[in-house]
Amino acid sequence: MITFSSLSLREELTQAISDLGFETPTPIQQKVIPQLLSDPIDIIGLAQTGTGKTAAYGLPLLHHVDIAVKHVQCLVLSPTRELCMQIQEEMTKYGARMRGLRITAVYGGMPIAAQIRELRSNPQVVVATPGRLIDLLERKALSLADVEYVVLDEADEMLNMGFREDIDLILKNTPAREHTWLFSATMSNEVRGIAKRFMKDWKEFSVATANTTNENIDHQYYVAQHHNRYETLRRLLDFTPGIYGIIFTRTKQDCQEISEKLMKQGYHVSPLHGDMDQKMRSKVMERFKAKQLQCIVATDVAARGIDVNDITHVINYELPDDPEVYTHRSGRTARAGKSGICMSIVSPKQISNIRQIERLVKQKFHKSDIPDGAEVVRKRLFFYMEQIAEAAPKADFAKLYRDSIHEQFAEVDKDELIRKLIWLQLKDTIDIYQDAEDLNAGYDNREKPARGNRSARLFINLGEKDGLTTQKLIQFITESVDIDENAIERVTVRDLSSFFNVPGNTAEYIVETLSSKKFKGRKVRLEDAEQSKGGGGGGGEYRGNRPKPSSGPRFSGDVRSYGNRDGGGSQGGGYKGKKRY
Ligand code: AMP
Repeated sequence: MITFSSLSLREELTQAISDLGFETPTPIQQKVIPQLLSDPIDIIGLAQTGTGKTAAYGLPLLHHVDIAVKHVQCLVLSPTRELCMQIQEEMTKYGARMRGLRITAVYGGMPIAAQIRELRSNPQVVVATPGRLIDLLERKALSLADVEYVVLDEADEMLNMGFREDIDLILKNTPAREHTWLFSATMSNEVRGIAKRFMKDWKEFSVATANTTNENIDHQYYVAQHHNRYETLRRLLDFTPGIYGIIFTRTKQDCQEISEKLMKQGYHVSPLHGDMDQKMRSKVMERFKAKQLQCIVATDVAARGIDVNDITHVINYELPDDPEVYTHRSGRTARAGKSGICMSIVSPKQISNIRQIERLVKQKFHKSDIPDGAEVVRKRLFFYMEQIAEAAPKADFAKLYRDSIHEQFAEVDKDELIRKLIWLQLKDTIDIYQDAEDLNAGYDNREKPARGNRSARLFINLGEKDGLTTQKLIQFITESVDIDENAIERVTVRDLSSFFNVPGNTAEYIVETLSSKKFKGRKVRLEDAEQSKGGGGGGGEYRGNRPKPSSGPRFSGDVRSYGNRDGGGSQGGGYKGKKRY
């Protein structure tokens, strides 16, 4: 396998990559970098954002640049200011150890005077949006006379945004251009047109394009009536504590209204849309990157340049009209080898759109239930308990307040105290969800199974804590028993357990067969969820190898199943049996 050290990049670059903690080159880097180092011919790279394409061309560019020469040698064109800034940021990191290297980004929406000043510092690399670059050329603020390397990044996006003539003009004005590298998520006739006009004997390299599968994305959809859309969004957010995501809306107005509503209700979110000026948008991105915001509510256009790697969820408040746009949205998660979830809220009528997108992304979407109130509360309870278990109070805090804390609570039973703390944390959620309505738009009427073979809902004692996702659960089932993956429906993966539906006449066989299996060394237990309801809406959170809670406190049992972090001491009642509040 190709490693970064085997690539014979210049020493400063290899060092910087190691500083950044990159271990192995991504597939597009493995294909492109060796070619561009040994023989920097013209190339087309078909790869979308998130594949590591910036480094795929950025590292070879920096490898070839001559730092001693103080004029623009490399030009990177990109469609949006956000992307320009990110490319500059990325490349600055790669070139951090190259003394004398200057990389300047110029893009619209910012005062041109400051950029003209920056250009006077003689950068070797300029990253630019086409419109602003032409403006600067007209003002003679920079010269492209000595540019040898030109990169067209997200060429398809630039063309979609109407930059064709600008690109032509810029490329015609690069007389010393020897190497043209074009990157694009998709290959259209227009993209090929640029190549034909401006590139010679190019080679093509391709990895996951917009239409191919990113298997790390779990596509889920939730069916709600149109008037319940906002409540569904809210419930999904509450059911996903720890979310770090993007919520997509179709219109700026929705974007603004939904984020205002969410903010009023205490969520850390912010809108991001085209009516906000650049300063505000940069501010939002800063807060999002610093994790001061749990979600951004964005329109497609504004979100184009968001480059954040660890996005856990993308939520489609509404599906986009164009299925291609769905792939751009969902591609914001599951980047750089991570996994992610893309949730779409759809009305019953829109299910056919889901089928269309399924064909495009070549992946099955999982129909999931909008959680009920009890599930939300339980999820948050577990999340909070985990946070308590993982909290590491600072030493001086403990020292300063230990005595006062001890004095105040010396007489209070430890379990009582824990319950109070958790109650304080959860009481608002409990208030909200006490009588929460069922938001699922009745699918039972639409996809009725044949008589005599109604589907059965099964409980399994594996959940997120076992590394399970909807997809992995389906895979585990289909690998263990003879059942088609399409027959497994309504999968709900919770922290410690999951539920799914199968055709009624297969239920017994599946329970029996799977119950003899192990998953990652743990004995699997399955039950008919309806029959196990006495254990709390489907048996919920109990590990199979533990006694059922009728004899023991639910609360302490659950905490222990998070890895014995409770010190083994929490006993006592509380969250028992059926009653979950
Ligand atoms: P890009 O597709 O260029 O937008 O890159 C996506 C993200 O992946 C960037 O934030 C890079 O810092 C990161 N990245 C690029 N190459 C690697 C690599 N070989 N290993 C780990 N992360 C990488």
